[in-house]
Amino acid sequence: MFKGVKILITAGPTREAIDPVRYISNHSTGKMGYAIAEEFHSQGTEVILVSGPVTISSEFPFDKIINVTTADEMLFACKNHFDNSDIVIFCAAVADFKSETVANQKIKKGDSELSLKLVPNLDIAFEFSKQKKANQIAIGFALETDNIIENSRKKLVNKKFNFIVINSPNKEGSGFGYETNKITILDTQHKQTSYELKSKGDVAKDLLAYIENNYKI
Ligand code: C5P
Repeated sequence: MFKGVKILITAGPTREAIDPVRYISNHSTGKMGYAIAEEFHSQGTEVILVSGPVTISSEFPFDKIINVTTADEMLFACKNHFDNSDIVIFCAAVADFKSETVANQKIKKGDSELSLKLVPNLDIAFEFSKQKKANQIAIGFALETDNIIENSRKKLVNKKFNFIVINSPNKEGSGFGYETNKITILDTQHKQTSYELKSKGDVAKDLLAYIENNYKI
């Protein structure tokens, strides 16, 4: 089904340096994005995986992975592949902010307070939405703690996703770090599809089936 289709996937966290030894990041492990990449790959699909720093082991071929550290690097890597991708899956937990300045030397401990000025990172999915062609499919992920459906719907619309995969950290066994995930898919037609808690590998299979059943590729 996905033979001849080109897929771009972002996965993992990004790291935004503060000084040579410190950074801002989040708890994303990359497991979900890598599971999706593995599932497509096992079906003979051409996958480019743009990955933030992760420590997981994966059967996905390492020569198809573009390793990046920061959100800016992730965006730069993705831009090279946006145009000729049929499906783009934004699974990465991109840091929303970076430090305005990065100190050349380790910042010394002192008695006074230290303020960091944070500036927003560009939104990779939003950047893609500006050039998205009608025949391209964009899939987003949302991790919300409150007003889950409403907030996810806003992202779906703003970033021109075809559908968004919601996983809530409120649910036992779902989200960052877990081997399992419990997702709800929300699409532009207001259709909502909820799945049971299952392994991230099985969630990836559900996602592929959802694409296959709902979109012409
Ligand atoms: O707005 P929020 O970060 O919650 O949106 C999540 C979705 O947007 C995910 O699909 C994520 O990969 C994507 N995103 C992105 N670039 C950013 C922030 C989020 O691609 N800078």
